[in-house]
This record gives sequence, structure tokens and C-alpha cells, in this order.
Amino acid sequence: MGAMETQQHAFDGRSGATDTLGRVLRDLRISVTDRCNFRCTYCMPKEVFGRDYEFLPHDQVLTFEEIARLARAFVGLGVEKLRITGGEPLVRRDLPDLIAMLAAIQRPDDGEVDLTLTTNGSALRALARPLADAGLRRVTVSLDSLEDAVFGAMNGIDFPVAKVLDGIDAAREAGLSPIKINMVVRRGINEPSVLPMARWARETGAVLRFIEYMDVGHSNGWRLDEVVPAQELIDTVSAVWPAAPADPNYRGEVAERWRYVDGGGEFGVISSVTQPFCRDCTRARVSAEGKLYTCLFAVVGHDARAVLRSGASDDELAAFVEGIWLRRGDRYSELRSAATSNLPKIEMFAMGG
Ligand code: SAM
Repeated sequence: MGAMETQQHAFDGRSGATDTLGRVLRDLRISVTDRCNFRCTYCMPKEVFGRDYEFLPHDQVLTFEEIARLARAFVGLGVEKLRITGGEPLVRRDLPDLIAMLAAIQRPDDGEVDLTLTTNGSALRALARPLADAGLRRVTVSLDSLEDAVFGAMNGIDFPVAKVLDGIDAAREAGLSPIKINMVVRRGINEPSVLPMARWARETGAVLRFIEYMDVGHSNGWRLDEVVPAQELIDTVSAVWPAAPADPNYRGEVAERWRYVDGGGEFGVISSVTQPFCRDCTRARVSAEGKLYTCLFAVVGHDARAVLRSGASDDELAAFVEGIWLRRGDRYSELRSAATSNLPKIEMFAMGG
């Protein structure tokens, strides 16, 4: 198969590069920085990522031009959704300039590229409007509790809930909707926040997604008994507000959707630990330094930066990306077991969550 492959795929009826398990490339997550202003205990615990921690030097981080060029190659191969992430993407200087470059990318079938961003929300009051003006369509904001004591301990820097809520208001005012909220649930830590978060999301029209605590990286001291299974979360919420399963918006959607039967909107669960969804995974990731990963749990990244900085043509860049996707066969979460738990892993903030 060549880069100009136009065959319709059984996966979702549209054309694009397909891996060894028949999965099409549809979704690219781009990390624009490995830095973050939070020190979430489950992601970048401050004991490990303290003052002395050395983040990537600037010359090793992809420039906006390099990111946009790479994104164009991916869109040419069938990617329909671009998600900007990090680290904390809003700490990258002049981010709206990058958004404007990505918003200008055209899909081969003339459909719209779904351009979105995942953020801790801390800088949204200042940046929501410039990002929306640059062409960002919507945002996902991470928020693990509405209680300062719980949230402050989880974000590691006592960042107040009110400032994130104000950032969410700013996003709404700027038209960045629907607003999705990511809540990582850890047993014994923020479980009591589940129902208050669901109530708040129903009242404000946000789409809340509960995320099972994952064994990414090595820094967070992950234990299976701290994972609250998605089914338990569904049972907890629907005991108060009855909910029924809703169809996915598209094949490969990460969250399993549940709709409140009283018309109060929906919530979702992301159950990568208890119900892995590898067989529908259409995602690739690019780290801030330009490593290309085809699985959040991948051990080896492919050096796209070297290709970008080698003088390669656009066709050569596309062939590099397509070659990696065509060879892809990973399904870590389905194979998760004692045998895989000791493998080296890459931190989520480094790869891009
Ligand atoms: N800084 C941004 C943010 O806070 O949303 C973007 C990067 S962050 C790594 C992306 C998402 O990954 C966040 O929603 C975060 O809660 C989630 N995350 C990080 N570590 C996780 C873990 N061990 N298990 C589950 N989700 C995790």
C-alpha cells in the first residue's frame, strides 16, 4: 500500500492507512511540551519531578513549523482529529499561533479536522479567547474533585478548584464547546467526589468522563487496588440518576458513553484497565521531542524529529509515518499482566496524555 491509498476500509468505511490488526489511523495526539505547572500525584509526583528535574532543552522540542508539517502528513494519511496535549499545553508560549497553523490543515476528503486540546485549565481565563479565535473548536479540562482539600492534594501544588472552574467558564464564554471534563478516580482518594462531580456536570452541561487510574510510567507507584472499575462508577452514578448506554459517536471513541434517562446530558467512562479497547484504537501520539508512539504503553518511539530535520520531502515524511502505522500491532492493555508490568514504560507527561 502506498501513501495515496484510497481503498475504503471495513473499519469505518473511509479511506486511510491500516495497521496489522485492521485499525485505521484517525486520531493524533500532539504533546507540545513535557513541562507542567501541576504535580499531580498520579502523573508527575513532586517527589520525582522536583526543582532539579531536567526537562527537555528547547532545541530538542519540535517547533510549531515542525509540528504543523507532521500534522499535515498525518491528516494526509487519514487523521481526522488532532488533540493538543502535554505536559500542560497552555504553558507553551504562543500556543494560539500553533492552533492557527493546525486549523488551516485540509483533509483530503474536505471534511473538517476536529481540533481540540486537553488542559488542566489553570490558564484558560487568559487563553480561551485567543485559542478560540485561532481556530480551536473545543477543550477537555482535567478536574479530579470540587473540594479544594482533595483537588489540591491530587494536583500537588494546592491549586484551587475555583480557578479551574473560572477557566472552564472562560472556555464556555469563548464558545469552546462541548466542554469535556476528565476525572481520574483513585480508590480511597477522590471516590467521594464522584457524585458531586456528576451533579455539577449535569448542572453546567459539561460532559464528565471518569478515567480509570492507569499504570502509565513508573513514577506514580500504581497499584491495581487503587483502580475504581468503570462498571462501579457507572453503577454509583446511575443509582442516583438512571442512565442508559449511548452509541459511540464514532468507532474508536475512547469513552464509553452513558446518557441520563431524564435528559440531563451524558457522562462517560474510560476503562483502559478493566475493559481495554485496543482493538478499536485509532490513535498515534507525538511527544514534545518528536517521538512517534502508536500506544500509550509503547516502549520505543520512532524519531520523527530526525526525519523532519533531515531535509526529507513531504512524501518521505508521509512514507515514514505510514510505514510505522502499517507495521503496528501493539495492544498493551489487552495483554496487561504480570508479564508486562515490569517492562520499561514512558511517563505519560513525556509522551503526551
Ligand atoms: N496537562 C493536561 C491535563 O491536565 O489535562 C494534559 C496532559 S495530562 C497527562 C492528560 C490527561 O491524562 C489528564 O486528564 C490526566 O488526568 C490524565 N492522566 C495522567 N496520568 C494518568 C494516570 N496515571 N491514569 C489515568 N489518567 C491519567
